[in-house]
Amino acid sequence: MMSNPDVIIVGAGLFGLTMAERVATELGLRVLILERRPHLGGNCYSEIDPETGIERHRYGSHIFHCNDDDIWKYVHRFSRFNDYRHHVWTIHRGRVFSMPINLSTICAFYGRFLSPDQARCLIAEEASELGSRIPQTFEEKAISSIGRPLYEALIRGYTLKQWDTDPQLLPAEIISRLPVRYNFDNSYFNDRYQGIPIDGYTAWLSRMIVNPNIDIQLNTDFFSIREQLLRHRLLIYTGPLDRYFNYDCGRLGWRAVRMESAVVATGDFQGTSVVNYADSDIPWTRIHEFRHYHPERHYPHDRSAIVREFSCPPSPDADPAYPIRTEDNRRLFGLYRDRARAESGTIFGGRLGTYRYLDMHQAIGAALKSFNTAVRPRLQGQPTSGSNLESE
Ligand code: FAD
Ligand code: UDP
Repeated sequence: MMSNPDVIIVGAGLFGLTMAERVATELGLRVLILERRPHLGGNCYSEIDPETGIERHRYGSHIFHCNDDDIWKYVHRFSRFNDYRHHVWTIHRGRVFSMPINLSTICAFYGRFLSPDQARCLIAEEASELGSRIPQTFEEKAISSIGRPLYEALIRGYTLKQWDTDPQLLPAEIISRLPVRYNFDNSYFNDRYQGIPIDGYTAWLSRMIVNPNIDIQLNTDFFSIREQLLRHRLLIYTGPLDRYFNYDCGRLGWRAVRMESAVVATGDFQGTSVVNYADSDIPWTRIHEFRHYHPERHYPHDRSAIVREFSCPPSPDADPAYPIRTEDNRRLFGLYRDRARAESGTIFGGRLGTYRYLDMHQAIGAALKSFNTAVRPRLQGQPTSGSNLESE
């Protein structure tokens, strides 16, 4: 293990790697990263499937997307990206629909061609049950934007599988991730910049920490060596927030994912990278077929690597991945946030450490911001302008 690191970072996901890169490059300080898993990259980790040579995303499909020029420039220091654009289809009762909901979804669902104006009128009628009430919950937000029939068909069953929580208790912000469009644009994301790292996520993320000031120790759980850690000036923690405090205030609600990999004897299993399964009687939420992320690569024509994704509670085999931000959990988070703010030697970051539903670009953005407002000033003995864990 590196002796006398200035900074110890718990977790080699995008938040931890970005922070390590900044501290080592900008401040020339020594960083030790501790990672529980046998690899870096957190949930973005990718690997080559030995049977097919196809690059798989071990924890589920990852598509990089953002609108921010600075973040797009930052990631290009470490990788080039292909020009993959994400499109998703969903299956409901044996029929296939385009997702997110757009004019093609609406026309297919109602079985006739509708112009954009006709579709708007129809959905406004279907969505009128809320009246002038401002939607507060996931379910209300969904019904107010697409109407109850589309909600019941394409959203409710999937959401129950994914979150195992009544959509009336889930926050509206989850469904607000998906646009609703009255044209035939079926891009999954609105973002200007999108792509997959040309030589994979692991290659990209490994290049972020090629610096003699950074050491990484894999297969190391912070909590099992916490007492033996050498002196350091700052700890940056990106594991689950409740675990840091030994669950003292209670357990935060998390969902995890379980992946079942298979190699299938066809060069194209489903014709696209992700197909969602909307119905509750199908146990998986989606199937990923990874070859489609790299149309520029030469992959075999007689085999394909797929993964069925199941949502499940966290367990020793399935780490927390999604914060279930119900009101009860947000109240509990508030208690941990106050504890975290009092922890002067530790900065909390990332999806697990801040209990936020962050995409990759947001994890990078949060790390860059935290470096500038909290980490750099603290390491340079200056006053900090950012608080440890923002308010809701
Ligand atoms: P993580 O990647 O979770 O990294 C945290 C790391 O900390 C892990 O490696 C963990 O092992 C380690 N750790 C935890 N506790 C300890 C401990 N006690 N000791 C040592 N190490 C510890 N984002 C997108 O932009 N596009 C997508 O298409 C996309 N798809 C996704 C699909 C799925 C199924 C999931 C779950 C997420 C997806 N994301 C996507 C989000 C993306 O994975 C996150 O934004 C990103 O992983 C956040 O990075 P992080 O560093 O906060 O967390
Ligand atoms: N969702 C749904 N049906 C779909 C796709 C998404 O009901 O076909 C809902 C579901 O609740 C999901 C949320 O919209 O959790 C956000 O979707 P997203 O694709 O962003 O989920 P993620 O990729 O983060 O799992």
